[in-house]
Amino acid sequence: MVSQPIHKTALVTGGNKGIGYAICQGLLNAGFDVFLAARDADQGRMAVESLSAESLSAEGKPARLIVLDVADDESIKAAASSVAQIAGSLNVLVNNAGIYPDGGVDILTVPREVLTQAMNTNAFSPLRMTQAFLPFLEKADSPKVINISSGNGQLEGISANVPSYSLSKLALNGATILLADSLRPKGIAVYAMCPGWVKTDMGGASAPRSPEEGADTAVWLATAAGMAESGNFFRDRTQQPY
Ligand code: NAP
Repeated sequence: MVSQPIHKTALVTGGNKGIGYAICQGLLNAGFDVFLAARDADQGRMAVESLSAESLSAEGKPARLIVLDVADDESIKAAASSVAQIAGSLNVLVNNAGIYPDGGVDILTVPREVLTQAMNTNAFSPLRMTQAFLPFLEKADSPKVINISSGNGQLEGISANVPSYSLSKLALNGATILLADSLRPKGIAVYAMCPGWVKTDMGGASAPRSPEEGADTAVWLATAAGMAESGNFFRDRTQQPY
């Protein structure tokens, strides 16, 4: 009897550009069926088209677009039902979408709206996404949640000059620990990672890393890490202190 290839599925938020796009590419190259989630349908469509010129899944399929604003619970619900219509399970959820809204403020001046926006997008959205996609993760083989955090979220890396971003990534790291503990009995691994300083719209032109280099640890966690690594923080495929 010929055994059927096992196709794994992954969903990457903020997949239309930057590190998220490179993670989609890396996961397609690793044989995953990829849901590229983008909040702007046109941007998402363009990303899917440009990806399919470069990378396809193991079955030769392009990434599929899911329109998703991670800061909007209704949008998350709609995205979950779109995924449900196509795939019964999800092996990997990559919470990559993020914002860096601290221009011109520091810890002494940052206004509430900026704090709220950063916390909502960078910390609460990955948590709400994990809650919403839990039924699909529970049905998958070796399910994983990968939270794209930052060195600014490590206790030694928080910066008064990027206050809302640092606090939001610190909170995301905390959510990673709590989710990993809660999901361990279900066999679902949860990781946080820093991609390094990456040349993207967020990282700017002076950053030393390419998006592909920034995506490398996420692809490694998706393909090679297991339950033993769950709950930990990584950079360059190496565990780091929170
Ligand atoms: P980027 O180029 O600015 O891309 C950010 C992505 O997040 C975009 O696709 C953006 O969508 C999406 N996004 C933002 N808010 C969203 C929302 N509410 N709903 C859905 N998507 C949303 O940034 P990047 O450098 O690739 O960053 C990706 C992740 O890596 C972020 O979590 C960031 O904090 C982290 N990181 C980056 C660096 C770095 O040096 N670049 C360093 C450490 C950590 P739109 O295109 O629609 O805006």
